[in-house]
Amino acid sequence: MFEKQMACVRCNFSLLSLDAMIGPRSGDVAKPLAVTFDDGYGDNFIAAYPVLKKRGIPATFFLTVSQIGKNWDFPEGPYSGLSWEQVDIMQKDPMITIGSHGYGHKRLDLLTPVAAAGDIKISKMILEEKIGRPVEFFSYPYGSFNEQIKKAVREAGFRAAFGVVSPRRDRFSWPRILISRGDNMFRFRLKLSPLYWPLRHLF
Ligand SMILES: [Zn+2]
Repeated sequence: MFEKQMACVRCNFSLLSLDAMIGPRSGDVAKPLAVTFDDGYGDNFIAAYPVLKKRGIPATFFLTVSQIGKNWDFPEGPYSGLSWEQVDIMQKDPMITIGSHGYGHKRLDLLTPVAAAGDIKISKMILEEKIGRPVEFFSYPYGSFNEQIKKAVREAGFRAAFGVVSPRRDRFSWPRILISRGDNMFRFRLKLSPLYWPLRHLF
């Protein structure tokens, strides 16, 4: 399914890195699109990365720092997170951007301001230490944030941050389109069409 989805975007959009997407000139590009992943599951490396590489598609992986090298504990059973070795292989690829999805995958707007700022800052510090380059982009766990969380992300030194569906669009609340495993190709195409944004509450 992911192969099919990437073939679809390859033919129909101008695929940009996140850096180019948020840059001042992305408006001049016809149908710009950036591919991003949240959480940092092992399948990002095993399943997605080879497809991206084969098709030359730039992508950003937003990693949950506390889960790197560990299993996620889901109700259906454990699910493997990326290892640091896998992160290292991907981050050396110029097509790949590494971003932060926070340290502990917490709903940041429900933490105390100090705890939220700490989670955001420590995620950036650890990632930068491990990969040896600046980490400039952040995605909010559960797409959940408020003005104070946006400010904490800006103050931690990130250049931009991404929600899921954001009420307002600015540098620290870029909206994204959520594609999930239940989306067939019809729904996938629909979600990428201009119809989706005005009608999304129907889907
Ligand atoms: Zn997440």
